[in-house]
Amino acid sequence: MTEFGFIEQIRRLFASLPDQGFEGIGDDCAVLPLAGDEALVFTSDLLTEGVHFLRHATTARELGGKSLAVNLSDIAAMGVSPVATLLSIALPQDATQQWALEFMEGYRQVAERYATPLIGGDTTRSEAGITINVTAIGRGPVSHLKRRRDARPGDRIFVTGELGGSGAGLREILAGHLDTPLAALHRNPVPQVDEGRWLGARHEVHAMMDLSDGLASDLRHILDLSHTGAEIDLESIPVAAGADLQTAACGGEDYKLLLTAEASAAERLAAEFRIRFGTPLYPIGRITAQEGLVWLRAGQPEALDWRGFSHY
Ligand code: ADP
Ligand code: MG
Repeated sequence: MTEFGFIEQIRRLFASLPDQGFEGIGDDCAVLPLAGDEALVFTSDLLTEGVHFLRHATTARELGGKSLAVNLSDIAAMGVSPVATLLSIALPQDATQQWALEFMEGYRQVAERYATPLIGGDTTRSEAGITINVTAIGRGPVSHLKRRRDARPGDRIFVTGELGGSGAGLREILAGHLDTPLAALHRNPVPQVDEGRWLGARHEVHAMMDLSDGLASDLRHILDLSHTGAEIDLESIPVAAGADLQTAACGGEDYKLLLTAEASAAERLAAEFRIRFGTPLYPIGRITAQEGLVWLRAGQPEALDWRGFSHY
């Protein structure tokens, strides 16, 4: 069974329960609308040793920062601001107190940067391997929320940064090269918290999500939920220095934002994004009414069976 097959089974199994006002499984966060135009959003991510990280290939401090950053990225993907987090951690005997304290220092540094207090969690012993679970809570106007299902035919598709750096860094780490710039990039993702909040306030932005599994896989979630297709111009994909095009399209953990925007407002949106952040909003293609994902090279369709990255 695939990861998404399992999630779909879970969703169906629980579909008949009362929703208690929540919009649940399927987007980067679950949503709870409050009174007025406010909503809370919730997301949770698990990192397990040997699957998501190798203890010898990361510092405890970096891992602490990354555990929080990947959750803040899911809040940013909804177009609102993170407000607090909970942290649960299972530590085996061979993880020292020093390791645990450094992990918390890394977590604190990112928490301080984004003004997100740690409000609870759980601590326990593990028989083998470190397991980390973070739950992040966000808050913002309902009218700013961006969902995967809201892409419309004709929309321009953008990404907020260069892709493939993290995937290329992971390859270097697995080859034993830990001290390279790309390996460091892989271990220290920067969540696009300010960008997400800014894009949330723009009504011309329709659908948004963060890129955790790779463009080839993540874009398909937007297409499936929006019942649309897309054309992606291969030469427009911003490839990080040191990465290649396929890694940019399929590699995971870049944690940039993927969004679609009304075509008539897209140029102004990109210009104002550049003024605000000093970096481009990269246009990579268009949403189409015809379902399916089409890769174009010099405007011609190219048959590529590209898929994203999966830990599962
Ligand atoms: P993301 O990559 O944005 O964190 P995922 O691909 O992990 O999202 O998950 C897709 C959706 O499925 C999300 O809405 C997530 O909350 C939900 N989900 C994932 N695993 C489970 C689970 N075990 N139980 C309930 N919901 C889940
Ligand atoms: Mg996500």
